Amino acid sequence: MRVPLADGTLVATPGMPDVDLIPSLLDASDVLGTGWFAAVAAEVEPGKTVKGPADWFTGDVYIDAVAAAPAPSRMSANLVHFMPGARTHWHRHPLSQTVFVTEGVGLCQRRGGPIEVIRPGDRVLFEADEEHWHGAASDRLMVHLAINEGDADHDVVHWLEPVTDEEYGAVPAGSCIGTAHTAHLVGEL
Ligand code: MN
Repeated sequence: MRVPLADGTLVATPGMPDVDLIPSLLDASDVLGTGWFAAVAAEVEPGKTVKGPADWFTGDVYIDAVAAAPAPSRMSANLVHFMPGARTHWHRHPLSQTVFVTEGVGLCQRRGGPIEVIRPGDRVLFEADEEHWHGAASDRLMVHLAINEGDADHDVVHWLEPVTDEEYGAVPAGSCIGTAHTAHLVGEL
């Protein structure tokens, strides 16, 4: 795992870090959206895919850190793979979040709104502190790039309760999940 030092340089931390590094590591694990203890539990190492912890995801989710720009930048980006049926818990981002779908078919929902189907090429902006969830369709994986910000006064993400099966299953009729854009190109599936 690469953690930013106070001067903004990034250093790799093999195994358990020195105690002096923990505040910076905490920032880095926030960038990953996993939290420090989850980062330890997932055996986060430099360049290693992180398994999304069950405290914040339902189903199998894998996170690759793409960018964690050194201060004063607050930008971070992660590529997130959701296996079929997997989704985040309800959560909010104090400084908003943009996701860009790169593969598969996904779902997202803002609190009080309908479930929306998201597909490759779709961009979704979740406004600051807007409660929402995002994930894969029940029978399709979904991959998105997540672009986040965080600073000393704003966590990257604030986690809430799981999305229940009942909530997840409330997909609007006619949303055509499972109809791949290219299905007609690859024969009968
Ligand atoms: Mn989000």
